[in-house]
Formats: sequence, structure tokens, C-alpha cells
Amino acid sequence: MNETGAPKLLNPGPVTLSERVRNSLLQPDLCHREPEFFDLQDEIRQRLLQAYGLNPDVWAAVLLGGSGTAAVEAMIASLVPANGRLLILENGVYGERIHKIADIHGIAVEAQHHDWNQALDLTALQARLADTQKPAITHVAAIHHETTTGRLNPLDEIARICREHDVALLADTVSSFGGEMIDFAASTDSSGLVAAAATANKCLHGVPGVAFVIVRRAVLEQAVTRSLYFDLANWCAKQDGRGTPFTPPVQAFYALCEALREFAAAGGVDARHAHYLQLADLLGDGLEKLGVSEYLLRAETSTVLRSYHLPQGLDYDALHDAFKAAGFVIYAGQGGLAARIFRLSTMGALTTADMERLLAACGGLLER
Ligand SMILES: *Cc1c(COP(=O)(O)O)cnc(C)c1O
Repeated sequence: MNETGAPKLLNPGPVTLSERVRNSLLQPDLCHREPEFFDLQDEIRQRLLQAYGLNPDVWAAVLLGGSGTAAVEAMIASLVPANGRLLILENGVYGERIHKIADIHGIAVEAQHHDWNQALDLTALQARLADTQKPAITHVAAIHHETTTGRLNPLDEIARICREHDVALLADTVSSFGGEMIDFAASTDSSGLVAAAATANKCLHGVPGVAFVIVRRAVLEQAVTRSLYFDLANWCAKQDGRGTPFTPPVQAFYALCEALREFAAAGGVDARHAHYLQLADLLGDGLEKLGVSEYLLRAETSTVLRSYHLPQGLDYDALHDAFKAAGFVIYAGQGGLAARIFRLSTMGALTTADMERLLAACGGLLER
């Protein structure tokens, strides 16, 4: 339980808040057309770029109201031009979701599809980008951390291949931004990793309601409008002029700003990554001793979330309810994996003591 008596959240967002971030929600009521709001917005945009050391002349952090999917949809709908062709690398729910987004917006699209337990085939990616017999691919979309399974796709390697073929990479970094390394520096204005979509309430430890896209400004100059709300260039232009197109989730901005201050003070992405790694390995090693094994090879997974085989003879609901009674919310597998795995995220204000309590609860449960 946390200070409010609620269970600790081991689902992949929204996360257990620190006291500092929860208290930030109680700041003064604020009109979103007043200078105090734009100061808050400016600080968030600067801090998001600082998280990965990005130059504000080259990159913009564009905020929008909505969940992580809103940022992904704005990125895809705005950055693939009318004559573009998008190749999506799919090995889970979130890659498949980008495919749906592209279809809805009438974007020319093809998928390199893999089963959810599979690594991406980068040789096939290379071959497709080099194939001059087929229509040319202008953009690739990939998921960095595929939260379906906990697999960390090799984003830097994908970006390198894209750059070699002068193709732009649009990344869903919703469940990795702030917790895993991302090499933004290796892109150009037209190739490699040019945009990344993410959200406040995963590795950054804010509350749900605000999402964002980190994008090269030069790429934004070529942006298109397929939707009134999901028009990234419009959001960016208004925010650059200390404005906002629509009513933003003001309290979620308060929380994100405080979460980013806390993140920087604690040592930024390196420190957060190291903390997640410590928690995830503690959990994985402890569960292994209890006979609960990891679903993927550890070397292929993120530190943000890992999947575990459901223990013999226990279904997910029984496991969930027992953990909840012990003060933890765990997370089910999606689709066909629901009957086989459960997932534990290490995001949020969690400590090694929480992990030890979780392991003790699990040990007690499995003895019964
Ligand atoms: C959480 C998540 C999303 C977005 O989910 P929302 O419910 O819209 O916040 C997108 N991609 C990945 C990889 C995610 O983990």
C-alpha cells in the first residue's frame, strides 16, 4: 500500500505517484490563457528535451492532451506525407495499433509482421528498404519497448538501417521514454530517428492526460494535416508562440512538470534506468527461485516491464486477486497471451522494499 492506502501499481501506467508529484496536483486553479500556464508549458517542453540532451534549435517537444495513443496518432497522421509509404515493424499489440492508425488516416502502408514472441527480423527490413522493384518506403514505424511482452526492440539499430536507406523512423517510445536509452543524436533532418511519441504517466511518473512527441523541427516543416485535433504542426506552432490550440489538462501539466524536476534531480535517464534494472532483476531472480520463469530471455527485455509464465495450476484472476489483497496490482497478458503470462512493471515510485514484499507475498501464495 502507498501513503493513501491504495495498492502499489505494477501495471504499465498509470504509475504509483511520489508524494511530491501527487501534491503538485493541488496547486492553484489556472486559466490556460494566462502567462503562468505558458511558463509551466515552456518548462515542460524544455525539460523533455533536456531528458535526452536535445538541442532546442533542432528538436521540439510538442505536448497534446490525451493518452499515449494520442501522441502516436498525431505523429503518424502528421508526419507521413500524402505521397509517402509507411512500413510498420509489428511484434505486438502496439505495432498493430499503428497499422490501424495508418489505415484510418488513409496512409499507404505495409507491415513486416512477426508473432508477439518474436524478435524483429532486421535482415528482412534491410532487404525491403533496398528493394527497388517494390514501391519505395519513405517512413518506418517501430515500437521501442513492446509492452505486450516486455521486449525491447533494437531502436538504435533500426534507426541506423533507416539512415543508410535515407528513410525516416517514427518511434513509439511510450513505455521507454525516460527509462531506456534512445540515441536521438544519430539522425539527420530526413533520416534515422526523426520523431518519438510518449506520455507523461509511464517512465516519467506523471499522471495521465498529457502526451507528447519529440520531433525534429525540420521534419515538422513538411508535416501534413489529416485531422483537426491530431495536427502536430498546429500544436507546435501554437506552443512556440506561448499559446495552445485547445484546453490542455492543466493539472496533468502540473504533475508532469514536478515529475520532470524530480527526474532531473534524481540523475535523469541513466539513474532511472539503473533503478528499474535493479528492481526488475530483483523481481526476476526472486520469482525464478519460486519457480516462476520469465517469458522472454532477459537480455531481450526492457527494464521497464517483464512478462512471466503463470505458475502451474493458477489462473490469472486468482493470482491478481491474491496480489491485490497483499497490496499490489499486477497486469494480465493481452490477447492469446492472457492465459499464459502475467506482467510486472517497475515504473513509478517503487522501491526494493516493495519488490521484497511482493516476493514474500508470492512465496506465501505458492505454498498454499
Ligand atoms: C501504453 C502504451 C501506449 C499507449 O497507451 P495509452 O493507453 O493510449 O496511453 C502505446 N504504446 C506503447 C508501447 C505503450 O506501452
